[in-house]
Amino acid sequence: MTLSCFELGERMLSVDETLEALAAMTPPPVTTRRVSLASACGGVLAVDVMSPIDVPQNTNAAMDGIALAWPDDVPGGDMRVDVVGDVLAGTRLTTSLALGGAVRITTGAPLPAGADTVVMSEQLVDSGIPDRIRVEHSERVRRGQNVRQAGEDIARGEHALSAGTRLRPQHLGLLASLGYAEVEIFRSLRVAVFSTGDEVTAPGESLPPAGIYDTNRFSLQGLLSRLGCEVIDLGILQDNLDSMRVSLAAAAHEADMVVTSGGVSVGQADWVKPALTAIGELGLWRIAMRPGRPLAFGRIHQTGGVTVPFFGLPGNPVAVMVTFLQFVQPMLRRMQGEHDWQPSRLTALAGEPLKSREGRVDYHRGIYTSDDAGQLWVRTTGRQGSGILSSMVAANCLIEIGDGCAAVEAGTPVTIQPFGDLT
Ligand code: AMP
Ligand code: MG
Repeated sequence: MTLSCFELGERMLSVDETLEALAAMTPPPVTTRRVSLASACGGVLAVDVMSPIDVPQNTNAAMDGIALAWPDDVPGGDMRVDVVGDVLAGTRLTTSLALGGAVRITTGAPLPAGADTVVMSEQLVDSGIPDRIRVEHSERVRRGQNVRQAGEDIARGEHALSAGTRLRPQHLGLLASLGYAEVEIFRSLRVAVFSTGDEVTAPGESLPPAGIYDTNRFSLQGLLSRLGCEVIDLGILQDNLDSMRVSLAAAAHEADMVVTSGGVSVGQADWVKPALTAIGELGLWRIAMRPGRPLAFGRIHQTGGVTVPFFGLPGNPVAVMVTFLQFVQPMLRRMQGEHDWQPSRLTALAGEPLKSREGRVDYHRGIYTSDDAGQLWVRTTGRQGSGILSSMVAANCLIEIGDGCAAVEAGTPVTIQPFGDLT
């Protein structure tokens, strides 16, 4: 039975339970569209791709030089060869090469039938006789050298890429090598983003005496756009139940997901949860992690039984980024058609003792390095308060201390999540 977070009640959930519940609650992937290859970078492939051709199409020269059938009995030292023609890249010899003959060939040109070996130009010297060339150190030549076989990269009919692959530059190159000018990808997700809080002030405005500049809307927009989402920036919401209710409901009309930050705790000015319950339902909101509490996940109801996933992230800027990376990112990736995504993880030795507590997952901001022996080490960036965003700026990874661990001693292994595509 799948775990639905709408049956979890008020219990504190572990990070793993939360991930499982969120996976079960993820809406199916969005619709697909055909785009030109040049504009597909960062998109998620919607179909499996088979190769319609051999890549490369022909067995061809990997070097400039001469192509020939390499004889069985090579004298060693200098060897004289008759050159019977030229094959430049883009042309091909239609006749078969006679035994003992050679053609001058350039890199990428198809090997003539009968040839199996390319000797590079650097090993060739003029013999003084027209159309005759000397191969130096013929004992060093190996039959089949400097030749790229037809289909050695991808053979015709071979499975080249799987649906659900996020397209990086190398994927575009590979699709182009198969001759595809267009590709079917999932359409981009539209994500509505709000900040909340009477003290939260838009950058560019003067800072009121009790104000704080709106940080989260900008880090969230950066994260979302790097993930290929279209951001609907809905500004800052005041700490007011009615305006939140109305704004969240309106946002759900135009977005595939709604994300807010702040106002999700149990203080007097925290209206996100009541607003959500008025227009949808609250799923989970207590997760055993630090930073990252409180975080609310739920769904906003639309007419026709449609629901839009909602994340109410914490207010503190580090907590916003950490919870986005751990929970919002996997859900968005699934909705974009990328299945089974996991953050990349490495193991490093702790360069200092690290504080944690059993029963919760701690995410410290870390800097990992490699020593002369190739061993990874990680230290924290210093102060770890969830409002200290400079810790994210200084970091190149999150140090993930599992909930079974009370503390990490210096010199012991610890898991790190290196910053990747988004950070
Ligand atoms: P809250 O959960 O609304 O009580 O917010 C927790 C802390 O995060 C408070 O100190 C807020 O001022 C701060 N905070 C909330 N939203 C933002 C934001 N958009 N940018 C920067 N700080 C924020
Ligand atoms: Mg607030």
